Amino acid sequence: MSSPEPVSLQTVRGIVSSEPIHRALAHEHLFVDFQPADHPGYMDVDWGTVRGAAINRLRELQAQGVDLLVDWTTLGVGRNVALLRDVSGATGLHIVCPTGIYLAKRPPGYVALTVAELASRFVSELTEGIDGSGVRAGFVKIATSDDGPTPDETTVHRAAAIAARETGAAIGLHSPLAGPLDRVSETLIAEGFPLERLVWAHAQRSAPEDHARYAAEGVIVQFDSFSSRSGSDAGPPSLAERSLDAIGRLIDAGHLHQVLVSDDATVVCNPPTTQYGYDATAVMRTVKPALRERFGDRATRAILRDNVISAFRWPAGSA
Ligand SMILES: [Zn+2]
Repeated sequence: MSSPEPVSLQTVRGIVSSEPIHRALAHEHLFVDFQPADHPGYMDVDWGTVRGAAINRLRELQAQGVDLLVDWTTLGVGRNVALLRDVSGATGLHIVCPTGIYLAKRPPGYVALTVAELASRFVSELTEGIDGSGVRAGFVKIATSDDGPTPDETTVHRAAAIAARETGAAIGLHSPLAGPLDRVSETLIAEGFPLERLVWAHAQRSAPEDHARYAAEGVIVQFDSFSSRSGSDAGPPSLAERSLDAIGRLIDAGHLHQVLVSDDATVVCNPPTTQYGYDATAVMRTVKPALRERFGDRATRAILRDNVISAFRWPAGSA
C-alpha cells in the first residue's frame, strides 16, 4: 500500500522525515502539573522517577509499533522540554511538543504580555527554541473553557493564531463543546489563520452534526479519552463506541483524512492525586482492532499514521 508523500515534522530532537513513521499517537502527555505555575510545589518532583516512568511507557508504545507521539503539555502546566528530548533520545521514539498557553494560565514572565508580545514568544519557540534549549515547538496548543472563551483566553488565542499564521504551524485546540469552538474559530479566522490547520481536540463530547460542520470547513476532528471509564463514559454505549460511530459518519461523508484518535492519557501527573487513570497503550490495544473491524486496514492506517503526520506537518507549505 502506498503512503502519502513524506513531509517534515519538527520534533524535540529536530526536523525528521515522516517516511519511516509506522504508527503515531496524536494527543498524549508524558507529564502534567495541575498546580499554578507560581505554586511552590509546581514542577517540584523527582525527575529521575518521572524519566523512568516515561521511558517505560514509551517502550510499551514502541512494542505496539508507535514511533511518533504528539505531546500536548504547554508551558505553565508542566512542559519540560529537556525531559522530552532526553526520553526521546533514550528510546528513539519521536516526540513533537507545543508552544502555547492552556486557557489563560500564563506562567510568570508571560502575565503582562500583549497579544503581539505573546505571539512573538510563540514564534520564537517555534523557530528558535525554548528557554535556550534549542528544542523547538512543532505546533501551538490553546484551550477554551466550556462557557468561554473568556477575554483573557481570547488574548491567548489571537496570539496563537498570529504565530501559527506566520510560521505555518498547526493549532491544537482543547474544546470539548462546539459552542466555544464556534467563538474561538471566529477569532482564529479574524487573525488570518486557516482552519485547515486546526486540530479540534476532545470532539467526542460534541454532536456528529458539529463534527460534520467543522470537517466541511477543513478542520481536523480528534477523538480521545478511549480508556475513560468514568460516569457516562462507561455507557452503554460507551464513550469509545459513540466515538467510533461518529468516526464512521465522518468517513461516510468523505472526511476520513480529517479524523484523529488518541487517548489524552498522562504518564505522570503532579500532584499524584490528580492522576486520572487513562492509558495511552489502549489506542493500539483496543481502538486499532475496532477501527480495523469497522473501517478496514486502509482507513485504520490513515487514522493511526497518515492523518497525524499531515495534521502536525512542519510547516504548512511542506504538504
Ligand atoms: Zn491533553
